[in-house]
Amino acid sequence: MRTSPRALLTGLAAGAGAVVALWLAQAAPSLRLDALFATFAHLSGLLAAYGILVMLLLMARVPALEHGVGADRLARLHALGGRYVLTLCLAHAALALCAYTAHTGTDLPAATAGLLSYPALAAAVAGTALLAAVGLSSARALRRRVRHETWRALHLPAYLGAALAFGHQLAGPDLAGGPFAAWLWTVLHTGVGVLLTWYRLIVPVRQALRHSLRIVEVRTEGPDVVSVVMQGLALDALRAEPGQFFRWRFLDRRLWRTALPFSLSAPPRNDTLRITVKVCGDHTRRMRRLRPGVRVLATGPFGAMTAHRRTRRKVLLLAGGVGITPMRALFESLPGGPGDLTLLYRAGSAHQLVLRDELEAIAAARGAALHYLLGPSDAPFDPLAPRALRNLVPDLPEHDVYLCGPPGMTRAAVSALKRAGVPAPRIHTERFAF
Ligand SMILES: Cc1cc2nc3c(=O)[nH]c(=O)nc-3n(C[C@H](O)[C@H](O)[C@H](O)COP(=O)(O)OP(=O)(O)OC[C@H]3O[C@@H](n4cnc5c(N)ncnc54)[C@H](O)[C@@H]3O)c2cc1C
Repeated sequence: MRTSPRALLTGLAAGAGAVVALWLAQAAPSLRLDALFATFAHLSGLLAAYGILVMLLLMARVPALEHGVGADRLARLHALGGRYVLTLCLAHAALALCAYTAHTGTDLPAATAGLLSYPALAAAVAGTALLAAVGLSSARALRRRVRHETWRALHLPAYLGAALAFGHQLAGPDLAGGPFAAWLWTVLHTGVGVLLTWYRLIVPVRQALRHSLRIVEVRTEGPDVVSVVMQGLALDALRAEPGQFFRWRFLDRRLWRTALPFSLSAPPRNDTLRITVKVCGDHTRRMRRLRPGVRVLATGPFGAMTAHRRTRRKVLLLAGGVGITPMRALFESLPGGPGDLTLLYRAGSAHQLVLRDELEAIAAARGAALHYLLGPSDAPFDPLAPRALRNLVPDLPEHDVYLCGPPGMTRAAVSALKRAGVPAPRIHTERFAF
């Protein structure tokens, strides 16, 4: 089963609507200042709690979401939603404090001390502080400065924050007043907890034990590019599709600490998986020195840029740089007859093209078109301009387009494709960054 982005957004909006309906059903109309503060504190609190649940669900790696919506889109939704959820948490705390101050007629410090004397509220404040710290650590300016692993580790307290905030939700009037609402709230939280535990902890361990993946070959494809071929047991059971990626942990002295995302650069076959990696930092540099025999833990598959997205007979695959990896796998495996498939491969120079022999063999065998778009990105002639694309693919608006490349190229290509007449829903992209 795959959840489409539209179905996900509709479901989330419906959930938010149900939360507002729950609040309306319990809210007692009053124009007293303390009651007004209290009722909006409840609304913001309920929405914040729902939002926390949604944030956790988006990151639970549920296959229906990962394969239907895509990991990059889920991560973007999570990042955007996180800001609103944090704002709602802080608004809830401020409104609750104002309500208590107005109700008791005390000053702010006394009201704060009064509220903190309730253990569930003190826990909720600690939870909110943890969530705020996690949110701050994701601020773009800070995120750029810390390593990916550090940033991931900084996210772990968010689970504790969510758990600490949960206790006081059941005590609030909206839920405590309605046994069904309290039961439903508990079921939803338990459900998301189970999904997180299952897909982020149990499934990876099961996959590691079942498939016993090992490196069988490390092949140099170019000056800074290597392919890593891995073999394991019962890999069919993974049901990995061309266009998808795994998170790979190489159990080598220098690499075991981190799981890195790489797309399959060939369709899975004969219990063999292959990735092709461009050196761009510390970990990818170390990958050049991997040797046959090293054990690999692979979690996945993830990603939605697969044949399921296709809506047209004709398909254009557009790759930039190392974005060729999922395109190479799709080029070989997407169903189609002669003339149905075109691959455009953008690179700075012929020297930077990888997997070239394979691409040319596939093009010849399938009667597919293959064009290399070479030259620096600041050259006067832009091969990705709408007119240039239409010259290469005259019936471009009739195509589905699969696109993978560096962020700048992807943005420019999406805009050019739209101007060349390809409707946005038929442009399928994947970003190599979360
Ligand atoms: C879905 C997906 C598929 C990818 N497929 C390929 C591929 O087929 N071939 C290829 O060469 N590259 C691919 N990448 C990019 C590759 O994952 C990064 O280049 C690599 O992780 C960088 O590691 P590094 O330590 O060498 O570089 P660094 O300099 O540490 O990181 C470079 C960039 O990679 C990001 N990154 C680092 N570690 C991780 C991580 N654990 N998880 C997510 N992002 C991380 C960082 O945010 C940074 O922006 C893919 C990325 C994604 C998200």
